[in-house]
Amino acid sequence: MSGRTWLTVDSDDLRHLPIYQGHPTRSQRVYDGDSNLLSVRFQEGWSGFIQWMNGHEAAVTLFVISDLLEQDDFPPLLRDALEQFGARLTIGCHGHTHRSWSSWGQDEIGFADMLSHSTALLKQHAGEAFRPYFRAPSGYVAPWMAEVLAEKGYKVDSSVNPSWLVRKKAAGHAWHRVTQAMDANGIVERQWLTAWSLPVNGPALFRFPLSLLARRSWKRAGRAFTASEVHQVEDRKYDHETVYCHILDFARNDGAWTPPLKMHQQ
Ligand SMILES: [Zn+2]
Repeated sequence: MSGRTWLTVDSDDLRHLPIYQGHPTRSQRVYDGDSNLLSVRFQEGWSGFIQWMNGHEAAVTLFVISDLLEQDDFPPLLRDALEQFGARLTIGCHGHTHRSWSSWGQDEIGFADMLSHSTALLKQHAGEAFRPYFRAPSGYVAPWMAEVLAEKGYKVDSSVNPSWLVRKKAAGHAWHRVTQAMDANGIVERQWLTAWSLPVNGPALFRFPLSLLARRSWKRAGRAFTASEVHQVEDRKYDHETVYCHILDFARNDGAWTPPLKMHQQ
């Protein structure tokens, strides 16, 4: 199998899911929990995530939705994790409210304003652990977003899920157009691992029969980056694979779920 794997985790809470908000047609329900508090499931997921981190030595990048930092309950959890895991845990941007940007049409000003606000919050709370890396909420990314990301100082984008199954998310563009736009703006695109052009990350880990393919692909993935190697994601001369799951996933199986990786390879 190939070289290295970049382990990434997205911090979505239940209220951020597209069924509740952020998408013009998919968002159809009103979230019935308290939007100012972490859901119980997120808290269980966070415990599972911390437990998993304690069981291996690899580096992980957490893509944080920054409106979580405007709540009272999330900042202490993040602070404790950053203290505990040091250089192994880095923080990227997963939007401020998890809006599915490319599904709303071109909006450079709105996207730029969001990035300014979100980046400031992330820097304030993550300090040295912050990295100028972006992951589009629910993978909704379009070529016009590249220039704005570059203006705001972003160096890496990890939003492209190069599968025909989710091609609509690129707002009518082929996936390689997004990658070209990122390249043209000096941003390194770290697209998600696929297998036979099918998604194997995030929800695909749990959606039968994709889940079978997904689990097998994760098990075959190369050794995860260590803290001293993870800087390679910024440098296009290095090639690696990128996988992601969610904090909420760690609440599955009564909190016993872990990513299907061969962590003993560490
Ligand atoms: Zn997300």
